[in-house]
Amino acid sequence: MAECVIGVDLGGTNVRAAAVGRSGELLTPPVQRPSRGQEGFQATLEQIAATVQEAATGMQPLHIGVAAPGHIDSARGVVRWAPNLGQWRDGLFEGWREAPLADALRARLNLPVAVGNDANLAALGEYHYGVGRGQANGLVMITLGTGIGGGVVLTRRQVQGDADWDGGVVLVGASGGAGELGHTIINFAGPRCGCGARGCIEAYAQRDAVVELAREAMRRNPDSLLHRLTSGDPAQLTPAIVSQAADQGDATALAVWQQVGVYLGVAIANFIHIFNPEIVAIGGQIAKAGAPLFEAIERTVREYAIPTLLQDCRIVPAERIEDAGILGGAALAWQLQGVRR
Ligand SMILES: [Zn+2]
Repeated sequence: MAECVIGVDLGGTNVRAAAVGRSGELLTPPVQRPSRGQEGFQATLEQIAATVQEAATGMQPLHIGVAAPGHIDSARGVVRWAPNLGQWRDGLFEGWREAPLADALRARLNLPVAVGNDANLAALGEYHYGVGRGQANGLVMITLGTGIGGGVVLTRRQVQGDADWDGGVVLVGASGGAGELGHTIINFAGPRCGCGARGCIEAYAQRDAVVELAREAMRRNPDSLLHRLTSGDPAQLTPAIVSQAADQGDATALAVWQQVGVYLGVAIANFIHIFNPEIVAIGGQIAKAGAPLFEAIERTVREYAIPTLLQDCRIVPAERIEDAGILGGAALAWQLQGVRR
């Protein structure tokens, strides 16, 4: 029987899991259940356990790795705060606080359990099983979606001193909150962000901001293909439709990705200055915009980043966009299992 771990992607809507082999290969297709993320910790715990059991059918997993949203204390396996998982009480939604996810799952499934922040672990999965090939000299990844997640993977070659670890490890900071790259501020007077600050890259380039930018462009350009592709209804606009129009050479749609690429390029120049990574990977569904987005990012980064730092840095789409959370959980589980690549 192939050795495996179970990678788990826990979200506010669904929980997905799959058995994952040593090289990041999915041994079974991912299984999915609603996470019942608004019904309290016990309900969600049951859904996670059932999903893991289904994914592990016929397998003998060594470890479970859970990619969870929010502020995670990985050392204790505790979700310190998760805004999308919780329960309604007196008309108010209370997110999980200090939820002992690893202990509760361990007790339920009798297997070692590791928990990490989903965006951090997506970076770790991409490092080991995607574009990092398990050997890049550092990787920074942002995941573009309804928010913008971030993760930083370092290697011993990127730190000074006597680090006795090898391979990619994730920066989590003093209390587990590091790597909030989406809240890199690119304009101190910019639009209000969900985090309360102003001008974060998330406020400019998360999904709804991109759609709003495209709607505005559509209004100003009555000839744009976007009108035809949405049957004239701006409410139907999605990033995928903007990409579809851009693929057909629509100038309005191309200008939208150009603008988003400028915003992202400024943020990425900051990441390059702070981390000097070999790779900046861009994941999430919006990364599928492809060349028009990436060309604008490249152009902007060239204008803002220190040339010698940029020289050896590649900015590329993530390769494992669909199963990022599962692979991230699996990468952590394998690492804790003592497997070094
Ligand atoms: Zn923010």
